[in-house]
Order: sequence, then C-alpha cells, then structure tokens
Amino acid sequence: MYYYGTTAVNDKGHLEIGGVDTIELVKEFGTPVYVYDVALIRQRARSFREAFVNNEVKAQVSFASKAFSTVAMVQLAEEEGLSLDVVSGGELFTAAAADFPMERVHFHGNNKSREELEMALEYKIGYIVVDNFYELDMLEEICAEKKQQMDVVLRITPGIEAHTHDYILTGQEDSKFGFGLQNGQTEEALRKVLQSSWLVAAGIHCHIGSQIFETTGFIVAVQKIFEKMNEWKTNFSFEPAILNLGGGFGIRYTSEDDPKAAADYVVEIIAEVKKQAELYALSVPEIGIEPGRSLVGDAGITLYKIGSRKEVPNVRKYLAVDGGMTDNIRPALYQAKYEAVLANKPLEKPTEVVSIAGKCCESGDMLIWDLPLPETDEQDILAVFCTGAYGYSMANNYNRIPRPPVVFVENGKAELVVKRETYEDLVRLDLSLNEKIKAKHL
Ligand SMILES: *Cc1c(COP(=O)(O)O)cnc(C)c1O
Repeated sequence: MYYYGTTAVNDKGHLEIGGVDTIELVKEFGTPVYVYDVALIRQRARSFREAFVNNEVKAQVSFASKAFSTVAMVQLAEEEGLSLDVVSGGELFTAAAADFPMERVHFHGNNKSREELEMALEYKIGYIVVDNFYELDMLEEICAEKKQQMDVVLRITPGIEAHTHDYILTGQEDSKFGFGLQNGQTEEALRKVLQSSWLVAAGIHCHIGSQIFETTGFIVAVQKIFEKMNEWKTNFSFEPAILNLGGGFGIRYTSEDDPKAAADYVVEIIAEVKKQAELYALSVPEIGIEPGRSLVGDAGITLYKIGSRKEVPNVRKYLAVDGGMTDNIRPALYQAKYEAVLANKPLEKPTEVVSIAGKCCESGDMLIWDLPLPETDEQDILAVFCTGAYGYSMANNYNRIPRPPVVFVENGKAELVVKRETYEDLVRLDLSLNEKIKAKHL
C-alpha cells in the first residue's frame, strides 16, 4: 500500500486518514463517501507558494476550482492564500457563496455567456481570461455599457500539447481554446485590447495539458511566449504584467506514475522565465500557475461498501461496490487507473485478483480492473485512493443515484462539508403532470 499524506494504518489495523479511522467515518456518514485529507491540501498549497517566495518572484497560485468546487474547498483555498480559477457562472457563484476575495478570482472558458461576463463584472473579479474574438467584442461592449474597466489576460495557444511523458509541437495550433500564438491572432487580439478604453491588457495565459510529468512542455511554452513578448515590446510597447502558465502538474494515481514533487515543477519554470527575461532584457512578469489535480487529487479517497460478486469461470471475478461512474467517471471517460485497499484490513495479504464494478447500467462502469485483494464479504469497505480531483466535481445522477457526501478530516476530526444527496433532492426540480400526485409526493 502506498501512503498518501496522513494515510496510515491504526492500532485496530484499519486505514486512517487525517487521524480518523475510516471505518468510523463509514459508520457516521455511510457509503459511498468522499474523504479529504486537509493537511495534505494545505501542504501542497504551501509548497507551491513557497517555491515562488524562495525564488523571489511575484506570483499567484490559483486553485483550478473545476477539480473540486465546493464552498468549503474554496474557503480552504482562501485560508491558504491561493487565488481561484472559475470556468462558469456556477463556479463563480460558489466562490461568492464562500465569500472568496473576488480580486483573486480569474474567469476561464471558451464560451462564456453574456450573463456570465456581466456577473464577473458585477463581482469585480481580478481578471478575465479572454479566449476568443467573440468574447473580446462582447466583453468590450458590456464594459462600455456598464462604464467599467476590466483586466484582461489573453489565452494563447502556443502550439504545444503536453502529455504525461512527452509533449508534441503542433504547428497548426489546433485547439478549441485561445488565440494562436504563431498565426497572428494573438497580435490582433492584443491590438484590440490595447486600443480599448475599457479593457486593460494585463497579461498572457496558456495551459498546455494535464497530468504532465515533464517540465519540457512548460519550458518550451515559456520560450515561445518570450520570443513574442520581445516583438510586442518593440511593436506595441507592451510588456505583459502577468504570465500565467496554467496547471496540469501530474500526480501519482498508481505505481506506474512517478511525478516530481509539486514545487519542483515550479522551480524549473521560474528559472526559465528569469533566463528568458534576461535574454531579451524584459522585466520578469508576475507568474501565475493554476494547479487543480496536484492540489487536491491525492488528498481524496472514496470509501465504498462491497456488494455483489460475479465470477465468470476462468475469465474474471467481478466485485461490485455501491457507487461507480456516478461518483467517479474518470475510468469510464479516460481509462483512468486507481489503486485501492480494504479499509478495514489494508495490510492483509491479497489472495485473489478481482475487478471492481460500479452499480450503473453500463458495462463500461468499471472502477478498477485486476485489483489484488484479500477474501471479501459484505462487511468490507473498499478505499479507492486519489479520487480528490475530478471525482466529486464530475459526479452525476445517472440511474438517479444520489451523489455521495464529502467529509474533510484533519487532526483527528471529521467535518461534513457536502451533505449526501437525498431522493427528494433528485426529484426537487421535477414537475408533475398531475396536481394530485404532486401534492402527495413532490
Ligand atoms: C483544467 C485546467 C487547469 C487545471 O488542470 P489540472 O490538470 O487539474 O492541474 C488549469 N488551468 C486551465 C486553464 C485548465 O483548463
């Protein structure tokens, strides 16, 4: 078993996290349940921030809230001095509901609606990451109507795609996101912003991928951007105050993954930014990063109750749990891999290999293929590791399965931060065709 953060095995032989026995958590909150190791989230946030402080560069570390957007998580991000990325009116509203300082909120997205942009202006957020010309024109119009200025960071597509173990230079910048850096779109957008009386050109943004283990992609992106920054200084007397390099730092899901320590990515990126600034005699901009997965991913575990078992002779043993693609769609969506143990006996020797199935009516609803486990029965609790990012935030109600609760654990204490959905919640927005039945049930 790999020990993430505060995970340990206690003297009862149970898995514990944040100093709390997972079996006690199941008794109190039921299953399935998402559990977050708050100390590990704090540790990650601090190591990212300290890397900038130690290297004496101005920076904003933003939590990409799409990875796990809830009021409590946004409040934790604020406690740790992080900024916040949102990609929708809903995430923006969550930030407001958490009373997050709006000047540290950044708004992303390739198709923000007029209403969403107006909302961002009303909240007076820090800056809007403008993605395309349609948005640029609409934002200019709204700002003029409201007679309100707004800081704008241009999302550019540098023609780099980074994946776990490598990166690809894509000449044609084929992405639904951002202004092309090489095809003149970025200059055109920049010219528009510089000419506007309402939009303020604050900086440049790029995001090259997700679950990245190598820094090369980031380094090449920095080089390409600085080359252009040098031209912009000459042509427009413009130097971006902010250079935001996005998120995507990889984490360990299984023994196949071997990421660097979170802060090590940052140290290498800072070094390259400083090097390029010196090379072109440009000032070192404020550096932005936007980790999502690497802040919360390995801090989350999901606890499930073991249910039915099906053996296909000589082929496979299926073991079903009381959740699945409704609380973790990543295996079905991306063939994502996870590790798991029995929370009530994590150190017991495996005696068989099973495949963990969800309970949805989909053959693709499998959580883990070929997991070595000891003998199981219905008393057993399965703990799946590393479900903290894109688990709850992608949870859904397929098959009308209520979404699990979220519990924060820290220093031996557990705190419910999202309640379990109820069946009543599931029909709350439904309208009945029959008034009498409505009165009875809804
Ligand atoms: C998804 C995303 C992130 C966060 O990515 P992670 O892989 O979770 O770190 C950051 N910035 C932008 C623009 C994104 O789209």
